[in-house]
Amino acid sequence: SAYLKISDGCNLRCAFCSIPSFKGDMRSKAMGAILGEARELVEAGVQEIILVAQHLTDYGRDLKLKDGLATLLDEICQVVPQDRWVRLMYAYPQSITPGVMRAIADHPQICRYLDMPLQHAHPATLRRMRRPPDTERTAALIRELRTAVPDIALRTTFIVGFPGETREEYAALLEFLDTMEFDRAGFFRYSQEPGTPAATLEGQVSERVKQRRWDEAMAIQQEIALRRSRRWVGRSLRVLVEGSGTADDGAPLIAGRSYRDAPEIDGLVWARGSAPAGTFVDVRVERATPYDLWGTLVAEAVSAVSRQRSTLSGQPGLAFDAVAASHLLS
Ligand code: SF4
Repeated sequence: SAYLKISDGCNLRCAFCSIPSFKGDMRSKAMGAILGEARELVEAGVQEIILVAQHLTDYGRDLKLKDGLATLLDEICQVVPQDRWVRLMYAYPQSITPGVMRAIADHPQICRYLDMPLQHAHPATLRRMRRPPDTERTAALIRELRTAVPDIALRTTFIVGFPGETREEYAALLEFLDTMEFDRAGFFRYSQEPGTPAATLEGQVSERVKQRRWDEAMAIQQEIALRRSRRWVGRSLRVLVEGSGTADDGAPLIAGRSYRDAPEIDGLVWARGSAPAGTFVDVRVERATPYDLWGTLVAEAVSAVSRQRSTLSGQPGLAFDAVAASHLLS
């Protein structure tokens, strides 16, 4: 995997965040430069390109591009073949456009995965955080995303113990968590960042309360993540192999990531079988835990993938058939 930064800085001013104070406002990289870098990564054999930015979904605003990220995704998918992955990191909910949803749904190389830090779910907390307080709108957007992009894996992060967070506000966060059922959710205990407006807010929450809320939210999310993971039992998933080893009984075992798993953040897919690191295989999922999935490598799918690779350069039609054939196995 390789990270490709598409912009730097952020135009927003969340009360807890110091990034804009040292990065400044968002500056988008020129689209031609991004496409050039993507082309080099493809030629170097990189299987997964992770487009990253503090505020990815605002891409191109400073370049006066209309629906900049959607346009960039369409262009990048002309450069990245359909048997590689493009992953998007750090979407801001209010700037996810129908065009972006359409691009994720249309292009097979774009992982059906969105990391969308929401930080909280109670309007009053969000207002103190200086973030859009309209939780209903966020909920509607999530429903829309799930309709437009079936099986999309949604990751988010929340802050617990933000200054002034009352029991009611915290309860609203838990309720939102329960209703929206994110595939992945991370929680941070609020910590005072010097120089940020939130650091001097009244009503700082004690460490003991922050810890209790964090423990509880984590436990609730574990159950939700398990329910979401169990939906994959009995189905097949394309997996990018990261390493291999042996199971307790000495049988060969691979570990890799599906489209649902960003590197070093999410879980792994473990499967009986062997395949070299850096290749794509299909795994039939047999067991789920909150973070990881376990299964068996589907041998036919592996050969479909290698057939697909060997045909990609010269005969795109055949390559497409191979992709379709491997999907039929799932
Ligand atoms: S939290 Fe994210 S969106 Fe908010 S100011 Fe920081 S970088 Fe920008």
